[in-house]
Amino acid sequence: MRVLKLSAHGLPQSWITLGEAVLHYAADDVRWTMGSSVAVFHGGHNAVSGLQSCIEVHSIIGTRGVPRTHQQGMTPGLTGPKLFARDCNMCAYCGKTLAVEHLTREHIVPICQNGQNTWMNLVTACASCNHRKGPRTPEQACMPLLYAPYVPSIWEDFILRNRRILADQMEFLRMHVPKTSRLAPAKDHALGFETFSHV
Ligand SMILES: [Zn+2]
Repeated sequence: MRVLKLSAHGLPQSWITLGEAVLHYAADDVRWTMGSSVAVFHGGHNAVSGLQSCIEVHSIIGTRGVPRTHQQGMTPGLTGPKLFARDCNMCAYCGKTLAVEHLTREHIVPICQNGQNTWMNLVTACASCNHRKGPRTPEQACMPLLYAPYVPSIWEDFILRNRRILADQMEFLRMHVPKTSRLAPAKDHALGFETFSHV
């Protein structure tokens, strides 16, 4: 599992490991926490009081420091796994939902016709539809798209990046996702996400 690290203003920064989260607590960087307690780490005993130090890690932490400025208004990085997650692992042409290993990145306007490697020009396709369409546009191939591509927001990007999101983290991220997004409705099974109430 990962801890969702936010800026002090509440913008998502990164998914971090429990160990990285503990370092933020130990450095007194954590300004506030949300969500459930996911782990408790015990340290040494205080020589004077005899009390043992203890760090309780929460699933969502707001940290001190300057937020990374790439967060808003910029396009999330495009990867195959995130593209397939955006498209719910569904082929844009035949509608089949397949395992990731059977999916391909399909350029709507093919590269040979100056199609770009962007969120708006890529959809998920099965290998046979990708092959059948070839170096043609959907119009030229008479293969209309079953759904439209879109650029994920920063919030959606954080959902797409992590396949094991805790239920409270998912709830927090979804509060900021537009209702029109394919990630908005509670259809975790269709999306292939696993959410966990507890670790
Ligand atoms: Zn297909």
